Amino acid sequence: MAGKFFLFQYEKDDVVKMRKKHPCGSFEWKVMTVGSEIKLECCGCKRMMVMDRPTIEKATSLVRRGDQVITEKT
Ligand SMILES: [Zn+2]
Repeated sequence: MAGKFFLFQYEKDDVVKMRKKHPCGSFEWKVMTVGSEIKLECCGCKRMMVMDRPTIEKATSLVRRGDQVITEKT
């Protein structure tokens, strides 16, 4: 990963807020696994999806760990 910089730090169980609403009405997804790709579960309908980092960085506006906001991008 040397030389690569990512604005967002993701860990398992973090909650990310998406810019776009899921069809079920939820904006929030829970991080299930972290690697070069990240697996997420929708907090609304429990649907799973896998996104690569550049895609997820563009799609998310906020990362939350418990009650703490880790990264917020406007
Ligand atoms: Zn959903």
